[in-house]
Amino acid sequence: MAQASGMLGDGSKAVKVHHLVKAPENTPESVRRRESWDATEPATVYKTPEILPDGTHCTAATVIFRTRGCAWWWKSGCTFCGYFNDVRDDVTADDLFAQWDEAKLRLDDFEGCSMVKVYTSGTFFEDRENPPEWQEAILKETYERGLHLVIEAQAQMCTPEKIAWVAERHPGCTVAIGLEAYDDAVLRFHVNKGFSTKQWHRSIDMLRENGLRVKTYLLFKPPFMSEGDRLSSLASGSARSRRCPKTSRSTR
Ligand code: SF4
Repeated sequence: MAQASGMLGDGSKAVKVHHLVKAPENTPESVRRRESWDATEPATVYKTPEILPDGTHCTAATVIFRTRGCAWWWKSGCTFCGYFNDVRDDVTADDLFAQWDEAKLRLDDFEGCSMVKVYTSGTFFEDRENPPEWQEAILKETYERGLHLVIEAQAQMCTPEKIAWVAERHPGCTVAIGLEAYDDAVLRFHVNKGFSTKQWHRSIDMLRENGLRVKTYLLFKPPFMSEGDRLSSLASGSARSRRCPKTSRSTR
């Protein structure tokens, strides 16, 4: 009897749809491009208008680091992700410190800024992605200089120990989580997000218990959805997520 393999198996190993549509990160062209980046320079830096947690308008500096990339991407990865283009496998702690110095140079040492957004194309406080001594230096320096810090994370990377560690070094900072859709079917089958709405709730409860601010990103249109389906999904998801009154939704 033939071995089962998906709905129309021919005996070969089943392949997930996600892996057929995931961006081809390891093509020779993609690898060549990644390795052409200077590991001591950030991917990009810029300033934008922003709003502080108390509602005050301010200028925010954004620094997008070139890191080793996202642990979820190494394992599987979100369907829509293209951040792997900004990473290098061999980035060291010294490189990251050099990128920080270069960012401050290009941004006039954050002159006129009250907020700094530090993006790492993954989870800022994930130790496999970013060296803990570098995480600690960023958290402490921005806190000591009175700069409100925004960092990003995946929900499943928010462990009680790590969140307490972050809150101790930069009390009140913002942790932004890309939820993309408040719908477990969309998270699993359209986005391949790697966590569920239940894990997202658990992480935001944990962040708030530690006095941190939460920000959530939603995708206007996840892959493989019609506009009509997405509008219905957004309407019902938005009603359900109103139970999370302090969660702000915004773009990166
Ligand atoms: S969590 Fe972010 S960086 Fe990681 S695979 Fe998903 S979109 Fe890409």
